[in-house]
Amino acid sequence: MRHFDYKDGEIYAENVPLRTIAKAVGTPVYVYSTATFERHYSVFAESFKGIEALVAYSVKANSNIAVLATLAKLGAGADVVSGGELARALMAGIPAHKIVFSGVGKTRAEMRDALRAGIRVFNVESEPELNVLNDVALEMGTKAPIAFRVNPDVTAGGHDKISTGKKENKFGIAWSSAEAAYAHAATLPGIEIVGVDVHIGSQIDDLAPFEAAIAKVGGLISRLRQAGHTIKSFDIGGGLGIPYGDNNKTPPPPSEYGQMVKNLTRDMDVEMIFEPGRMIAGNSGVLLSEVLYVKKGEDRDFLILDAAMNDLIRPALYDAYHDIEPVLAPGSDAAEATYDVVGPICESGDTFTKGRDMPALKSGELVIMHSAGAYGAVQASQYNTRPLIPEVLVKGDKFEIIRERPTVAEILKSERLPDWLK
Ligand SMILES: *Cc1c(COP(=O)(O)O)cnc(C)c1O
Repeated sequence: MRHFDYKDGEIYAENVPLRTIAKAVGTPVYVYSTATFERHYSVFAESFKGIEALVAYSVKANSNIAVLATLAKLGAGADVVSGGELARALMAGIPAHKIVFSGVGKTRAEMRDALRAGIRVFNVESEPELNVLNDVALEMGTKAPIAFRVNPDVTAGGHDKISTGKKENKFGIAWSSAEAAYAHAATLPGIEIVGVDVHIGSQIDDLAPFEAAIAKVGGLISRLRQAGHTIKSFDIGGGLGIPYGDNNKTPPPPSEYGQMVKNLTRDMDVEMIFEPGRMIAGNSGVLLSEVLYVKKGEDRDFLILDAAMNDLIRPALYDAYHDIEPVLAPGSDAAEATYDVVGPICESGDTFTKGRDMPALKSGELVIMHSAGAYGAVQASQYNTRPLIPEVLVKGDKFEIIRERPTVAEILKSERLPDWLK
């Protein structure tokens, strides 16, 4: 069931025509579907019925507080990677005991905030970080619950920039040092060991690397327990890929992934923690944009949109593919065309796709880019002084703006002329 689909000749988000949103809010705009967030979360969570599991949604995929609040209502926890994300998660009503804190560069201030809030666990990525966390916890008269993020040295991930589980990546404790790191942690009075954590990459489209990582970590957990450590939780990270509509391999559905994890960890006697991001949010949102111009080039035609790489950077950053569809369904006799679809920014990198076959379009028509709910709005910038585009959340036949489009005046308000230029 798709929640962004044609009905009566035009694309709806649930029961709201996208044309209505474009008219009310303007373009470009991100549009999210509540029903899709709910379905993805529920399918995933239900595959773990019967085992102890925490689904800690990876906030960095889509961090709007309305999105977080939608997931919080279903019982989601959060995986945060900064003090800012921690504040969002708490504000959205996610209880601190369901929040895990990941990332290679946590600051003392962030550690203090997280300890004060009483989060579930710090996923610690290096011994220097562990020592600082120990200091901060002792200063506050408390103990910090930790899991080491270990690097299992498996190859996974849809693109070099999002592959994180190989030994040359900056993430986690090297596999060969893991046991020594736990031994050291056990000597620190401000640290309480509670688990093990891995995250091997993103947009992973088959189960094999997950299976390899789980098997390796299973062995590590046994060795750590033999050495006297208490290992209560096994955080397997995020990373399951989603279909983007191109012809690459189709990732397994969340239910299959869930079943696999359940089978492989059945005898480990651990509480499982999951940090899915893309899988929950990716296909829950689209980028709605207007065609500004159709420009005939010498050997190619350009579809120039009002959305650009500053709004959705995935194609420029990861060569990502997004399905593009016109909001008004093309008639059966509609002309076909081949376009380079681009934005207005002054760089050739501002290209969403090259040589894409699609129905011929005219200036003023609306298009959507599918699968833009994860790593879209969160990575947007104001490059070229283009205001951050708004986000809209649909629920049934209702929709609301959940982040406003700033005015240019608002953008300029935070800039200052130094005295010597006044
Ligand atoms: C990015 C990230 C995730 C989420 O990855 P997805 O591919 O979106 O599921 C989970 N955990 C950590 C530590 C991450 O950095």
